[in-house]
Parts: sequence; structure tokens; C-alpha cells
Amino acid sequence: MTHSIHPIDVILHKRDGQVLTDAEIEAFIQAIVDRTSERQLVTDAQIASFLMAVFQRGLNAHELATLTSAMRYSGETFDATPLHTFTIDKHSTGGVGDKTSLLIAPILAAAGLAKPTPAGIPGICVPMISGRSLGHTGGTLDKLETIPGFNTQLTLAQFFNTLKKCGAALVGQTPKLVPADRILYALRDHTGTVESPYLITASIMSKKLAEDLNALVLDVKVGSGAFMPTYEKSKFLAELMVQTGEASGTRTAALLTTMDEPLGRFSGNWVEVWECVDIMKQHRHPMSADLIELSNVLSGWMLHLAGHATTPQEGAKLSDEILRSGAAYKAWLKIVAAQNGDVTIFEDPAAHHKPSATRTLTAPTSGYLASMDCKQVGWAVQRLGAGRAKPGDPVSAHAGIEMHVKLGDKIKPNQPIVTLFSEDPALLDEPEQMLRETLQITQTPPKLQPLIREIITKKELA
Ligand code: URA
Repeated sequence: MTHSIHPIDVILHKRDGQVLTDAEIEAFIQAIVDRTSERQLVTDAQIASFLMAVFQRGLNAHELATLTSAMRYSGETFDATPLHTFTIDKHSTGGVGDKTSLLIAPILAAAGLAKPTPAGIPGICVPMISGRSLGHTGGTLDKLETIPGFNTQLTLAQFFNTLKKCGAALVGQTPKLVPADRILYALRDHTGTVESPYLITASIMSKKLAEDLNALVLDVKVGSGAFMPTYEKSKFLAELMVQTGEASGTRTAALLTTMDEPLGRFSGNWVEVWECVDIMKQHRHPMSADLIELSNVLSGWMLHLAGHATTPQEGAKLSDEILRSGAAYKAWLKIVAAQNGDVTIFEDPAAHHKPSATRTLTAPTSGYLASMDCKQVGWAVQRLGAGRAKPGDPVSAHAGIEMHVKLGDKIKPNQPIVTLFSEDPALLDEPEQMLRETLQITQTPPKLQPLIREIITKKELA
């Protein structure tokens, strides 16, 4: 901390409902990353108190933008300037079977390559820094790492070169990127402050903005599989994230989208890659329709913000054309090869699906698939081995589920509803029970929510 700013004063000011100055927020975050075991500039107890004060009192728009920026610049950042392209990314608050990143990155890369800049570099770049599965939600990195050889741990220089060559790269966070978030997140986990929309916004947006983005599209989930417990809380989070992105000069749009059932056909790791490869190879399974629609809508917004489409709807149409033409698949093969992945595996993705145990649940009666607790479905997928109980746990490549029906579908007795996959037969019983409990069949058709609920941009916040 500087001579004039002490951690205790920052804590007291926020505890008592005062507005923090930029200097206070910046000094506090700097002290967090500068401290060493010999120099405790700020203690864990003080950081925890600061987090609780923010949890209770909140932050105004300016404080939130300052906290996000201080965290963003707390370590290394990616500098996209030498690419001379429009940099754009998508972030999802996390769901079950949510594999849109695997389609969106190649769609956008293909669109960018179609319009290269005079320097020959793709007109759009997608520097996608993704996460791992945690809790009931899946993680893009775990899915990608089921591709033999695929390297998600690129250095910033390798990341840059892959973007330059392919227009997109999909990597994990490096230890040097946004180190303040790692420290804050670990303490939030132990202090009951994870759920603060202000702290979630600063955490997500600091990492996304460290990618040096011109624009960002956020997929904020609502429904029984969403991270936030109510529609209003998801909407408030979306508004904070749009406001914070725009304050940093990044065009930001948030789509509130329904997560009441797994997205698409499969949930797991390799099975999700397989589903996306099938779509990119024009093998559109009917169960993948919602996944394709959401991917096109999100890509459409990205293409619109990047200036490749006059409206988001036109962008969604262009996105679907890119998928159907095979251009996205070509871009996908290029990205995977550039990140050392073995592309021969995509010749027959079904052959690579090797669970040692499978079980199919069938409908006990006729009726309609009416509802499920999608979070519980996500936990069932995790217990099959596809997810992890704590950070660092290994995940199974072949565990997961295949849904055979969607909410609202009419079903006959004994019709297959869901198939479970695992690499350990002993792991089937508990998830089976969890799925049996949560999948509800009724005699009348349910009322379903649309996939896209609401869109928040700067205009809606004005
Ligand atoms: N994801 C993050 O990166 N941070 C949060 O706080 C919540 C979700």
C-alpha cells in the first residue's frame, strides 16, 4: 500500500457505505498481488473483510469499473494491437451440455478469414481463454483436452501466433494473467462471498478484458441449470457486466438464455466435441437443434458487433451459412492442428467414444417430458466422472449422458429418455437415481420458455 492508503481504511470506508476512490481500489488490488510471505502488505483477514464489505454494500458503476480494471492489469495482459484485427470473444456463465464455444470459435474464424485485412491477417480474431469444469457445469478446456495432443496451455506468444494464423485460439488461463482474481476467488470460496454480482462481474470481466477485446458477447444463463438462482439476479448480473464492459471501451452485449435442460444431444467431454464435429460436418442430429440455434444467435451478435453483419439476425444467418458450407469445419481443423491436436480423430468421432459402462433409462409411462432440475442433471454428469469435485481433480474423457428427448416432447412407455456413460461401472447407480428423481413426465404438455429470453446492450441500460 502507498503511504497514505491503508487496507483497514479501505475496508472501513466500504463497510460504512462510502464510495471508494480509484486510488483506494487500485492500491488495495496492487497490495494483494505485491504481497509476499515476508511482506504482508494486506492480510488474508483484511482481504476477506474487504470482500464481505463489498458483498454487503455493493459498488457503484465507477467503483466496479475501477476494480475490474485494477484486477485486469494485476498481471500480464494480452496485447492484440499488432494483430490489427477486430478482437471479439463470447463468455457463458456456465451450463450443462453448453458447447457453443466449440462451434463459435471456428465460425468466427471462418468469417474473419473470408475478409482478411490488407496485412493478410484474419479480419476477426477470437482470443478465447476458457475454463475447466467445476460444480455442475462443464468446461471447454476439459472437452478440448479429449482431442489427442491438443495443447490448451499456450504461452502468450504461441497464443498470438495461433490467432494470427487461424483467427481463433482456445486456451487456458496462464498463472500470470489476472493473478488478483485467483487470490480473491480462493478467499471468496471460504467467506460466503462467491454470489456477489459485483464480485462475479469483476472476476469474469477482468479476465475477459485482459484478452484486449473490441467486443464481447455474454451468454447469461437463466433457469434451473443457471449459476444465478433467479431470473432477476441473472438479469442484474448481465446489466453489471454490460455496463462494466462498455465502461472499458469494449462493446458488450448480454443474452439471457434458457438453461432448463442440457443444451444439445450430449453432455460430457469427448461426446460434446463429437456433437460439434458432427454439426460442422453437416450431420445435424435433431437433438442438436437448440445448440445450433443458440450458437448461431451468439455468433450472429458477434458478427454484427464486428461489422460483418448489419443486424444480429443477418449475422445469425451468415453464421449458419458458414456452418453449412463447411468453412467452419475447415477453420476448426486448422485451429486444432495449430494447437497440436490430432485431426484424424474427427474422421469417425463416434468410434472414439469408448465408455466401459452404459445404461439407458426409459419412460415408465406415456406423457410429455415436462421438467427437470437441470442443475441436478449437471451433477449427475459430474458424478459419472465427467466433472470434478474440486479444482485439480482428473476428469473422464468418455463419461457423460445422451438425452433422447427434449422438454415438451411426447413420449411412449419404454421409450429411451437418457443414456448414461461412464468409464467405471460402479459410477452409474447414483447418477441413474439422480436422473430418475428429476426427470418429470406429465399427461399435459408443459409450458416452455423460449431459448433467448432477453438481450441487454448499452441501449437497454441508457
Ligand atoms: N466465473 C468466474 O470466473 N468468476 C466468478 O466469480 C464466477 C464465475
